[in-house]
Amino acid sequence: MNNTYRAKCQCGQLAVSFTQAPVAQLVCHCRDCQIVSGMPYAKAAFFITEEQCAQGEFKAVNMKGGSGKPKQYRQCSRCNDFVYAKVDALTGLMGVAVDKLEPPFEFKPMAHVWTSEKAPEVEIPSGVFQFPKAPPFRPGKQ
Ligand SMILES: [Zn+2]
Ligand SMILES: [Zn+2]
Repeated sequence: MNNTYRAKCQCGQLAVSFTQAPVAQLVCHCRDCQIVSGMPYAKAAFFITEEQCAQGEFKAVNMKGGSGKPKQYRQCSRCNDFVYAKVDALTGLMGVAVDKLEPPFEFKPMAHVWTSEKAPEVEIPSGVFQFPKAPPFRPGKQ
């Protein structure tokens, strides 16, 4: 299997890999992403879940998504790096922390979401799609 897209934590224990390009790329400004990533926002690439695409031991951080459905952030059990998230509202997809993706992955966000919870110091570049809450489309579905 040729897994072209790979992401891993700092210590390399927790890793994900995918054969197919992400179906969506978003910048998420929600509070949960801020807390978990330790950054003012999270850059996420959504991949279609593949068999055995995740490896290693993780610590789960359970939150509730904007839809009210659960979402689970997964961090390395050893180095605490946040690598990916599973969102119940987005069945079949995995949201991967773009900062953990190996080159030559190039981040091309299609939209900024949850801008209603944006950190005040963050400026969103002009000319990009912005949604105050969850985007009105479901990533991966036309
Ligand atoms: Zn680790
Ligand atoms: Zn978020």
